[in-house]
Amino acid sequence: MDTDAPDQLLTGWGRTAPTRARVLRPTSPAAAGAALSEGSERGVIPRGLGRSYGDAAQNAGGTVISTQALPDRCELDLQTGRAWVTAGTSLGRVIEAVLPRGWFPAVVPGTQFVSIGGAIASDVHGKNHHRDGSFCGHVRTIELVVPGGERVTLTPDGPQADAFWATAGGMGLTGVTLAAELQLRSVTTAQMRVDTTRTRDLAHSMQVLREADATAQYTVAWVDLLCRGRGLGRGVVTAGEHASPAELEAIATGASVPLPPNRRLASVPIMPTRAGVLHPLAMRMFNELYFRAAPAEPLQRVEPIWGYFFPLDVVGHWNRLYGRAGMLQYQFVIPDAATDRLIPMVDRVVADGVPIYLAVLKRLRDVPGPLGFPMRGWTLALDIPAAVRGLGAALDRLDTSVAECGGRIYLAKDSRLRAELLPRMYPRLPEWRAVRDRLDPGRVMRSDLDRRLSLVTSEPVRKDA
Ligand SMILES: Cc1cc2nc3c(=O)[nH]c(=O)nc-3n(C[C@H](O)[C@H](O)[C@H](O)COP(=O)(O)OP(=O)(O)OC[C@H]3O[C@@H](n4cnc5c(N)ncnc54)[C@H](O)[C@@H]3O)c2cc1C
Repeated sequence: MDTDAPDQLLTGWGRTAPTRARVLRPTSPAAAGAALSEGSERGVIPRGLGRSYGDAAQNAGGTVISTQALPDRCELDLQTGRAWVTAGTSLGRVIEAVLPRGWFPAVVPGTQFVSIGGAIASDVHGKNHHRDGSFCGHVRTIELVVPGGERVTLTPDGPQADAFWATAGGMGLTGVTLAAELQLRSVTTAQMRVDTTRTRDLAHSMQVLREADATAQYTVAWVDLLCRGRGLGRGVVTAGEHASPAELEAIATGASVPLPPNRRLASVPIMPTRAGVLHPLAMRMFNELYFRAAPAEPLQRVEPIWGYFFPLDVVGHWNRLYGRAGMLQYQFVIPDAATDRLIPMVDRVVADGVPIYLAVLKRLRDVPGPLGFPMRGWTLALDIPAAVRGLGAALDRLDTSVAECGGRIYLAKDSRLRAELLPRMYPRLPEWRAVRDRLDPGRVMRSDLDRRLSLVTSEPVRKDA
């Protein structure tokens, strides 16, 4: 472990709201337990690869335990597809280890650069959420160290199932995950068979996405919310399946699945300007080109697994394109019962002048965890530059609309929600708090996200807290 543990300025992927914390980098599970036992007046929070967009892995004035110096390990049982993985290991490393042997994680988010601990803490969802649910639905055990240093093994249906589900989506506030056992899915190639359909507006995107969900394992819609007029929300719906055929025989004879190169282009340098290099006009042109590049008639093609699941990963530090002011990703979900509210909500935020550079639409379903984000309905993830005048007020209005129709925003992406809306959006919060308090009665686990939203406790935050 770093003994001097220098203070470090940390942000999330959106690069807004930096705060300073003492960052410990334990090199063994025992050292991670010791770091947690040591505690800190301002509490402790684990941090993986810092891909949550907001302040979930920050702890102003307190301690942050980085999992990145812990040993990377991934032990695969070839017969069952169960993999025992240490928490700091990235999903990309897991894929590189298991895919050549015919296995793939059951759920992956839109980037390979998330740690297993981070994937569990946000209970991340992927393009197959409508079919397979979220990440923790495929986790068989979680090894957690709780404040005080005790190690507990949690299973989804064992005696401490409530602690398992409080940790799944618990934003690191139940303890530090050290390792997990994952049930992987069997695949026979490293390629995806992808059907692409162009859509003319938001209603059509929703319709095509719903239809695709009925048959395809992986679905998602890119929608254009910079396009003005009747084309608002036009898009490209992709429906994917793991491609199978010829390699089946190779797998059966013990040969490995050929792994396509996991390429990365150069990283974006730090931008000197506040607003970066992305501007609405340029993004509108980019969207136009992206839309036109998609086939006018539905088309099927084969794509390598990396590009299909992680299209943004080819450009390192793409978040820097937004400049010093950074960006935020606003992701919300609304239940099916409120389907007819989605288009008016989008119309309103666009009319408020919010430039939405990238928008992704997806169908979700309910998950077991009390702090889980997904619910049966529609989710939209909106990438927005932070340096926009009036953004706060426009998004506050959107928050209110989301809460009014029984929806919620995703804590792993959030950087600005008002605390008073949290209990409405997460009605099972008291249940989560009760289990969390049992694991951490001294309330050692704290983060900037937790303080901003009064997650751990609804007691008023002291001025100096
Ligand atoms: C380009 C991009 C695409 C994305 N796509 C998706 C998507 O499709 N679906 C989706 O659901 N999310 C998506 N995300 C969000 C991302 O998957 C989550 O924020 C994830 O939690 C990040 O993992 P991390 O290792 O970077 O964790 P960090 O950002 O470092 O931390 C996130 C949370 O996990 C906790 N944590 C980290 N490690 C541990 C540990 N060992 N024990 C306990 N708690 C821990 C932290 O305390 C914090 O609360 C995306 C993010 C990016 C940047």
